[in-house]
Amino acid sequence: MLQLVMNISVGCMKGLCSRGAFISRLILKKKKKKVCARVMRAEMKNGTQVMANENGNPGKVSISKFSHLLASQDRDFLLSPTGSQVKVCDLEGKVVGLLFAANWYPPCRGFTQVLVGIYEELKSSVPQFEIVYVSSDEDLDAFNSFYGSMPWLAIPFSDLETKKSLSRKYDVEGIPCLILLQPDEGKEDDATVRDGVELIYRYGVQAYPFSHERLLQLRQEDRVKLENQTLVNLLGNQHRDYVLSHSHTGLKQVPVASLVGKTIGLYFSAEWCVPCAKFTPKLISVYEKIKQELAAKGEEDFEVVLISSDRDQASFDSYYSTMPWLSLPFGDPEIKNLVRHFNVQGIPWLVIIGPDGKTITIHGRSLINLYQENAYPFTNAKVEELEKQLEEEAKALPTLVFHEGHRHDLNLVSDGNGGGPFICCVCDEQGSSWAYQCLQCGYEVHPKCVRAVDRHNNNVLVENFTQSTTPGKGL
Ligand SMILES: [Zn+2]
Ligand SMILES: [Zn+2]
Repeated sequence: MLQLVMNISVGCMKGLCSRGAFISRLILKKKKKKVCARVMRAEMKNGTQVMANENGNPGKVSISKFSHLLASQDRDFLLSPTGSQVKVCDLEGKVVGLLFAANWYPPCRGFTQVLVGIYEELKSSVPQFEIVYVSSDEDLDAFNSFYGSMPWLAIPFSDLETKKSLSRKYDVEGIPCLILLQPDEGKEDDATVRDGVELIYRYGVQAYPFSHERLLQLRQEDRVKLENQTLVNLLGNQHRDYVLSHSHTGLKQVPVASLVGKTIGLYFSAEWCVPCAKFTPKLISVYEKIKQELAAKGEEDFEVVLISSDRDQASFDSYYSTMPWLSLPFGDPEIKNLVRHFNVQGIPWLVIIGPDGKTITIHGRSLINLYQENAYPFTNAKVEELEKQLEEEAKALPTLVFHEGHRHDLNLVSDGNGGGPFICCVCDEQGSSWAYQCLQCGYEVHPKCVRAVDRHNNNVLVENFTQSTTPGKGL
């Protein structure tokens, strides 16, 4: 059943359905009571003292806190990467992360890779930290192969019951999920941090010891950083006050100070990233059009800076050579800080910084997709103006179309009437506001990507009708 619950939840994480999470939560809640009773009965039978029930008895948590969670009636140990067994009671006094993941889901593999780095860095300085893998792998071979990449402990694959009850206890709705437990006495549930995945991505080792106090402190620091944000402290540091640019003789240095007062796009991207390969040419074309329009007015107030997450210098060099704009040096330490500062959750990602050095939007990619060069200078006022224009243009669109690539009718929807952020099934890019949506199966496309056909003979009626009615703009 765990497998099933995870599968449903993963669908939800991809935005495929919102009902699955609800259903899986229902299943978890219904069975919770029974498990509590069973665990407690088993403990009494074993003659162990029941100190904390599953809901965390406030006021008294015993030294066997982790035993209640991680051991079973006939197992008091966890697996370790060396193959030896580690007693559950050895965890007492430590901050423990429960990693719910499975090898069959790529985001789990990606997160595990990041977590291994954080774990090794932490273990070298803090002995009071441990991670326990709670697997949703489909079989023992899959478990063995995935666990083989992890340097921490694990619940044996065969112990379905413990894995299920942990998943229920912490309402695990999707994977990867990292639950962080504090060793403190008396406030088990209050102190539990459930958004470990986000915290690891955002703060890395800095998030340790994952207490609410530490997290408050980090969020406070974030606020201060945002308030004091300037282009110079974003892009430069005490060792480097320049970014790179192409020149006839290779790369040259451009002082960060010379960019102050301009609108700057920070483009997070990498050569290995498939969606980036689609978005980069689009951004180049938009960049060149904006630069041309500005040059015609005698201005040069716009720049883009590549923030690369390429894996080696050679890929960076080859990728950057295709781009007409500036770049941070490959592997620069500021890259990590910028990823955290702007909460970059996936690439391609485009942040727009205004002439005052403050963030205008972290959703530059959607604005480019929706409005191309017309989005410049990306301000709220400009976006509102474009939205109104879009609204007007949408009035001219048919409310129902039959699209060449789909077997059901598609309805015109907008933010207010059934629409919302989506991924276009034709061009794979993000969209928001107006869309053509299939009410039967959720298929959704940009109005500009629709190819309306006659339902009966499949003749293309109008090729790309929005662009033909509003040349150069389009929805
Ligand atoms: Zn599209
Ligand atoms: Zn459909």
